[in-house]
Order: sequence, then structure tokens, then C-alpha cells
Amino acid sequence: MFLLFVPNRFAFTRQMGAAILLLNLLLSPAVAQLQTSEPLEQQLDQYLVTTFDDTAAADIFINSLFERYYVNATTDIAFASKVRLLSYQASAFLYQQQQQQADNVLTELLALLDQSNDADALSEIYATEIEFLVYQRELTAAVLKADRLELIVKQANTPRVRYYAHNLLGRLLRADSQYEQALQHFTDALDAVIETDDQFTLRRRSFLNYAIAQVYTDLKKWPEAKTLIDQLIVDAQKYQFQQFLPDLYLMQGFITAEQQDFTAAILSNTLGIAAAQANNQPDIELTFQNNLGSIYMEQENYSAAKQTLRLAATKAEQLNNNFISHSIDFNLGYIAVMEGNYDDGLSAMLTELDFFKNNDSKAQFEPTLGWLARAYGKAGKFQLQAATLQQQLTLRAEILTSEREQSVLELQNRYDTKAKSQLITILEQENNLKAQLLDNQKLQQQLTGLFALVLIFAAILLYQLYRKVRLSNRKLREANKQLEFQSLRDPLTGLFNRRALQEHMQRRDKFGRRQTDANEKANAFLLLDIDFFKKINDNNGHAAGDEVLKQLSDRLSKVCREHDLVIRWGGEEFLLYLDNIAPEQVTGFCQRILEVIAGEPVPCDNKLITVSASGGFIHLPFAGIDEAELNWERALQIADMALYLSKVNGRNQVYAITGLRCDYDAARQPLTDDLQGAIRQNMVDYITIKGPALTNKNAAE
Ligand code: GH3
Ligand code: MG
Ligand code: MG
Repeated sequence: MFLLFVPNRFAFTRQMGAAILLLNLLLSPAVAQLQTSEPLEQQLDQYLVTTFDDTAAADIFINSLFERYYVNATTDIAFASKVRLLSYQASAFLYQQQQQQADNVLTELLALLDQSNDADALSEIYATEIEFLVYQRELTAAVLKADRLELIVKQANTPRVRYYAHNLLGRLLRADSQYEQALQHFTDALDAVIETDDQFTLRRRSFLNYAIAQVYTDLKKWPEAKTLIDQLIVDAQKYQFQQFLPDLYLMQGFITAEQQDFTAAILSNTLGIAAAQANNQPDIELTFQNNLGSIYMEQENYSAAKQTLRLAATKAEQLNNNFISHSIDFNLGYIAVMEGNYDDGLSAMLTELDFFKNNDSKAQFEPTLGWLARAYGKAGKFQLQAATLQQQLTLRAEILTSEREQSVLELQNRYDTKAKSQLITILEQENNLKAQLLDNQKLQQQLTGLFALVLIFAAILLYQLYRKVRLSNRKLREANKQLEFQSLRDPLTGLFNRRALQEHMQRRDKFGRRQTDANEKANAFLLLDIDFFKKINDNNGHAAGDEVLKQLSDRLSKVCREHDLVIRWGGEEFLLYLDNIAPEQVTGFCQRILEVIAGEPVPCDNKLITVSASGGFIHLPFAGIDEAELNWERALQIADMALYLSKVNGRNQVYAITGLRCDYDAARQPLTDDLQGAIRQNMVDYITIKGPALTNKNAAE
């Protein structure tokens, strides 16, 4: 079979050339030490980046730089920068297949050799020259020139130049099957890469690893090659190195096919075709098609192989891709043999074999002999088959000598160690960054968490505080209420006490006092004192006396109106402060009160206790006299006097003092000191209201 993993020179060089150039972007510090033209250097850097993204734009760009700084230059640019500019322009023309122009620029570049002894500049010039030869597949000429470059690049300082030169030498020597030297150069190239640390470092490393994978592939170290190429594909996807993907898939497909894993190989080729189409790389796409055909051949699916290869052949012709055309013709020859068309098939294969013998590396050429041997076998030409196999074995031995294996192994180890240490640094940097980000994130989370916690605690605390305050407020209110109740109420009867009246009268003085005529409704006092209460106590016990007081309190409360105050004035004295009572209502009211007290005896401890009371009644204001003159306390004194009259005149009755018949001034003194006298002197109007007849006379004695 004829599988290709370096598909054809054009596609390879075009793409890889761009990659190599990009990887040249190693300049800054070392280049700055040289005599360079800074603005131009920066634009050349820019060109490299453009090369990678958009080759067409890059071609135009380098051409404009070349015109401006070289062809039409008014001032001379620094030597190193001039070399770099010419080198890039020469390569660009070369890749554009503008051979004549490329050669012209190269000639001008080579002319600069005499003008300087600077190792960097000389290295770059030599390297460009070799690149031309490699591109033109003039391997022998290139290898001859390599010695000179190898010597001078040892003195070069610029990482960019060192990388470029060593990389190129590595590729060249690999193509020349000098694997140990190739690996040495890749290692030196890696040294140059290590001196830089920028956004392209990973790509440069990838590219070097790709070169190593190529060496592994040449040496048929399939597992090593596979591991490397798998990792490269992962990295290319991870670091958006898309342009590199088709080459990587190409190699992966090649390796897996060699490992006889055809399913994996078909997958790699399929993915590769998609990647090549996405990158607009028709030559690589064509190579994938050739390789697919080869895999079908391996599977002895000749019809599928033929179909695929014929399509590819047409395309190769369109693309003018000579190398692939030869490959396809070789494969089609093999299929012809397998299908019984021995002579034509073998003849085609031998023609192509000649081409590859002269145009391909030993490692690439060697498997070709294997396919030829198989074809001879199929055709029954066993002697030729044996000779071909012998030839193949010799070639293989040349490629894989044991000493070479040994030194290659050593170099591989050296390379691996360096690559690993660099990778470790990169990973460490990555990890540090990640760790820092993670730390920051954690800290942020912790802070947020803490803040939330503090908030929650504060909220809980506040809520508890609020509840406590509310609770204590409620308790306070209750306590206050109780206190108020206690301070304004009589504990035994629950009636208002003296203080309550005082407060009420203070409020009334402030807000509610009214000036009224004697005939109008007015407030009034009725002071009551239970008759012979001592006896009730004596006869029935103090507790029964208390019970009587309570029951009378209830009776009085019930008979009074909402706005009236029922007050326990003293031990067995009650005071009713009445709201708006008209003069004509007085008798009836007092009667009702006397009735309510004495009408029914009070039941207590299975006994019925007959109770009566005596009272004194007076209006407030009294007889239209301003309360400033006759205040409520004085009115109460008069009521007390009236009560006294009730007592002395028979009890169970009320004396109501209802008006004055003389000037208040004249009546002032007698009213409180000698009410009986005042009545006698006709100074006051009064009514006596009798209580009900008592059932138990004893009580009222
Ligand atoms: P009168 O008023 O009709 O002249 O005769 P009285 O027996 O009611 O005489 P006075 O008003 O002087 O006596 C009041 C008595 O009431 C004295 C006291 O033992 C009794 N007393 C006062 N407070 C209470 C009390 O809270 N409970 C009981 N059970 N007795 C009380
Ligand atoms: Mg009394
Ligand atoms: Mg009494």
C-alpha cells in the first residue's frame, strides 16, 4: 500500500512553512540587541501572525513591506531586518509557486552574505537557501549545505533564528534518514523555544512534537507516535490550533492504519477531510482521499478503493499535484494486479516506484517495496517477490540499525526531559493561574457566605430583639393596665376608687366642664352609706360583710348608665357620679338606687341579709353656681352633709339638695357646716326620697 503522511511537498511546505514562520516569532529581547529596524520588525511580526490566519492577506502584506522597505527604500534599514525581510519575501514567493520571483529575491539575499559576519544573519540566509532546496526536494544539495548552517547557527543568539535553523535542519536530516541528528536539531530548536514564553510557546512545542512524531513514525515506533499524535490533536483543539489539524489527522490515520486499526484510520481520514475542507486545503484533502483508498486496499475492498482513488486522480490532475498523482497511479496499479491484470498493474507500479526511489525518503519508500512484493506474489512471480522483499529488508535495516536505535533513544530521552520540564513549567503556570482563580473564587464564596451568615444572624438577632421588645412591651402594657386598674379600682368590689374620681374630675376640669343653668341637665353626686353595717359584720362575720359589699356593687353598677361612675368611696360608702341628670329625674333615680339596695335582701351563706343605705344628692354645678365658686369637692361636702341628714332623720332615704333660695354667698357656710340650719332658714330646696319598706326590721335599727 502507499499511505502518505507527508502528503506532498506543496501542501506540506505551504502549511508547515507558515507554521515554521509563525514559530519564528521569538524575537523581542534577542532581536532588539541586534541592530534592527524596530517598526519593520514589528510589521514582520505582524506578518507572521497574518500568515497563520490568512495566507492571501499575508502574501499581500509581505509584498507591500518588501516594496516599501527594500525595492523603493529611501533610507537604509538595519542589516538584520533586511535579511529577515528578504528571507520572508523569498519564502513567500516560493510558497506561491512564483519560482522566478522567489529565485530573484533569494539571489539578492545570498548577495548579502558578503556584507556581514553576524552569525544570526548568516544563519537566516543559509537556512532560507536550504529551505528552497528542501522545497524543491533537492535533498542531497540541501544536506551538503546543512554542514555550513550547523556550524554557524551554533554562534547565533536570536531564538527566532536558532529555532528556524534547527527546525529546518531537523526536518532535512529526518528526510535524509539521519534520525539522531534530526532529533538533536529538534532538541536545539526546543532550547530556543524554551527561551521564549509567549502566547505561541505551546504551538511551537506542538510543532516540534509533530516533528518528533514524524521521526517515531519513520522508525515505526507506532505506540510512541500514536501517543504523541493523539496528544497533539487534543492540544490543537484545546488551543484553537485549527490549521494544524489536517496534518495531525493525516499522521494519525497513517499510524493507525500501520497498526492495522482500520476503523480508527478511516475515522481519522474522515475527520481529516472535514478539517482540510474547513481550512481550505485541497491538497491535504486529496492526500486523505489517497490514504482512504489505500486503507480500502488493505481491507481488500478493491471496488471502494478504485472508486475513491479515481476520484482523487481527477482532483490531483486539477490541482496539478504531481506527487499524489504518482501515489494514486501506484495504488491503482496494485489494484489492477489484485484484480488479475498482472502485466499492466506491475508495469504501472514499477514506473511509479522509480519516481519514489528518486523523490522520497528511505523511510517513506520502504513500505512501497512491501506492496510491490505482494503484487509479485499475486502474479506468481516468486523470484522477483523474494528479491524485492530482500531489498526491503536491507532498506529497513539501514533505517533501523541497533546503534542508531540506541542513540536515537538517548536523544529522545534528552528531548523528552527538556520537553517535559518545559511542559511542567507551562502546566505549573496554568495551574498557578487556575489555583489563584480558584482561591479568589473560594475567597469570594467564603466572603459571600460569611456576609450572608452575618446577615442571617443579624436578622435572627433583630427578630428576636423585636419579639422581646414586643413581648416586653405587651407585658409592660399589661402591667400598666393592671397597675392602672389596681391604682384606679377597688380590689374587693372592682369599682372605681377615690383616685379614679380625682383623675376623672381633673380631666373634666380640663376638657369637659360645662356651665349650666339650674334647670338644665347637669352632672350629680349621690353619696351612699350603708346603714348599720357594723351590725351586719357583727351578725354575719366580716366575710359576709364583704360579700354584701360586692353584691351591692354589682347591683349599683347594673343600675347606673355607661357614663356614670360607681365608686367605692370608703369602707361601706359608695359614690355615684352621674352624667347628665335632669332635675325632674332626681327623685326617680334616687328611688331606684334605694330600691336596688334594699328591695331584696342579699343572699349570703344560706342567709338573707337585709340591707339599706342612706344618701346625699347634689348637682354639679350646683344651682347654676360656677364651679370656680363651688367646685366638685365642695359639692361633695354638701352631699356628705345631706347624707348625714338622711342618717339622722331615719336612714334608708336620700336627701337631695336641689337648689338655693338665697345668694350663694349667704348659703356658703351653712351648706357645709349646718345644712339642717340652712334648711330651716329656707335657704335651700331639697327633696327627701324614701327607700322601700324593709322586711327585716332588725337590719335597719
Ligand atoms: P351607720 O353608718 O348606719 O351609722 O352605721 P354603721 O354601722 O354603718 O356605722 P359606720 O359607718 O361608722 O361603720 C362602718 C363600718 O363598716 C365600720 C367597719 O367595721 C365596717 N367596714 C368598713 N369597711 C369594711 C370592709 O371592707 N368590709 C367589712 N366587712 N366591713 C367594713
Ligand atoms: Mg360609714
Ligand atoms: Mg354605715
